[in-house]
Amino acid sequence: MAQVIDGKAFAAKVRGQVAAEVARLRAEHGIVPGLAVVLVGADPASQVYVGSKGKATVEVGMNSYEHKLPADTSEADLLALIGRLNRDPKVNGILVQLPLPAHLDSDLVINAIDPAKDVDGFHISNVGLLGTGQKSMVPCTPLGCLMLLRDHLGPLAGLSAVVVGRSNIVGKPMAQLLLGDSCTVTIAHSKTKDLPAVCRQADILVAAVGRPEMVKGDWIRPGATVIDVGINRIERDGKTRLVGDVDYDSAARVAGAITPVPGGVGPMTIACLLANTLTATARAHNLPEPKGLTA
Ligand code: NDP
Repeated sequence: MAQVIDGKAFAAKVRGQVAAEVARLRAEHGIVPGLAVVLVGADPASQVYVGSKGKATVEVGMNSYEHKLPADTSEADLLALIGRLNRDPKVNGILVQLPLPAHLDSDLVINAIDPAKDVDGFHISNVGLLGTGQKSMVPCTPLGCLMLLRDHLGPLAGLSAVVVGRSNIVGKPMAQLLLGDSCTVTIAHSKTKDLPAVCRQADILVAAVGRPEMVKGDWIRPGATVIDVGINRIERDGKTRLVGDVDYDSAARVAGAITPVPGGVGPMTIACLLANTLTATARAHNLPEPKGLTA
């Protein structure tokens, strides 16, 4: 049976490392990192995410600034708030919770954030910096996957990696990060021919699709490392359950190691948001960046 990659335990370790660095920044430099989270509207899932991000921020000793705006907020008002946060020296990271209401242009809003404070790594400058192998802010979920892979496998150079999914949030940056670590990378998507055969080439298989239990055990090369990014709610046996994009039971019989859902990639996303806020703070003050928390 595959080894279980415990993302919850690793995320706790990352958060502990961030908390220790925050304490050191405060003691030695009088600096307290600050993360501003902007939520427009009252989408219940977004409210839960924003709540847990704020709580996690405070738990590691950072300041959390929550800005909750009504659903009918105008683009001009939202851009004005982002402008104020960009200029505020107490704010080191800015996150605008997506999705935004339909009348707001997400690209315009995200690209209004100062790239140095763009802790989600979605600003076009950060996308370009990552794509050209330069220092950037890296999107949290793929950064978390990379940390888990490095921790489990050591150096990744030369390994064959298949990323299923090509979204701007997960698939594409994941592929860039694996390429940055010298993997041989294939990106698969909904038009890929014979996806099972493509997946069987992978030493590292990352599934970021949004289709419950799509990747089966016989798609996996024996001994491969499987990272399941998917979070899908399904009804089974009269209960709502959370499952990934990988069929865990069949995959765990073939893979060398696998992340569970829940308790795999999910907890790493918030841990990496905190890590990115710390990195942004260190850069803003020309201090050395904490080790092991960036790509
Ligand atoms: P998107 O819907 O933006 O992208 C899904 C990708 O999967 C697309 O590139 C799509 O291809 C591809 N795809 C869809 N169906 C198939 C198929 N049958 N065969 C092959 N490829 C397919 O999703 P996200 O990237 O935002 O999220 C992916 C999953 O990860 C979701 O379950 C989401 O909930 C989860 N997630 C988890 C996070 C975490 O913290 N753990 C954070 C973010 C996301 P095409 O481009 O051709 O349409």
